[in-house]
Amino acid sequence: MCRHLGYLGPDVSVGELIGWGENSLLRQSWAPRDMRHGGTINADGFGVGWWGQDAFSRYRSQQPLWSDPVLRETLPQIRSGAVVAATRSATVGMPVQATACAPFTDRTWAFSHNGLVKGWPETLGPLAEQLPVTDLLQLEAPTDSAALWLLLQRALAEQGPEKALTTLVRAVDAAAPKSRLNFLLGDGRELWATTWDHSLSVLVDDDRAIVMSEPFDDDPGWQSVPDRHIVYARPGHLIITPLEMGA
Ligand code: GLN
Repeated sequence: MCRHLGYLGPDVSVGELIGWGENSLLRQSWAPRDMRHGGTINADGFGVGWWGQDAFSRYRSQQPLWSDPVLRETLPQIRSGAVVAATRSATVGMPVQATACAPFTDRTWAFSHNGLVKGWPETLGPLAEQLPVTDLLQLEAPTDSAALWLLLQRALAEQGPEKALTTLVRAVDAAAPKSRLNFLLGDGRELWATTWDHSLSVLVDDDRAIVMSEPFDDDPGWQSVPDRHIVYARPGHLIITPLEMGA
């Protein structure tokens, strides 16, 4: 499964953030500790999104995180207090291309998915039928995650992030049981994440909120999020709610 990271806190070097800790996102791209369901490394591209003074920027690549020069030459010079990053292990049958890498974005929201939709694309068909054809024609990549992002954007247009994520997880689980749906969503000020058959940890104190598939170090402040929960995090605030009883 892919690995993702959401950060909110004091401005940091985006390149350094990716390399933070003995189990950094960078290290998780080639030596993750907690791969489940048969994956081994996360080498099928990566993406990094960050919020600056008044705009969101993103870089995505189909190269492994460790081999793209951007990590040494560009990202260390960029500073931000709000970052979403992900390193990808393509699900069998799904293409390796930059546009399949999270974060997906509409410039307000940044979205990442760890997992897979069981039986994709057939199982998602009934849900995708609700979408206008023009949306489907703009699908960035023929992958489950890109399709989930389309569905989530529709939901976000109608309801708040927590409700939109909860509704999407339930709808996909009903249409495609045994899917793995760890989502991460941010808008530069707040983070939301779900656990649905995969690992997630959070580290929140008064200054920062970090949500990550695996902790990047052994700080005792990391909390492991139980399965089937939704997380709301920003510096000084952490709420973890069971998804099955959630909003
Ligand atoms: N299924 C998604 C993809 O192929 C996510 C993969 C993952 O989490 N390993 O992009």
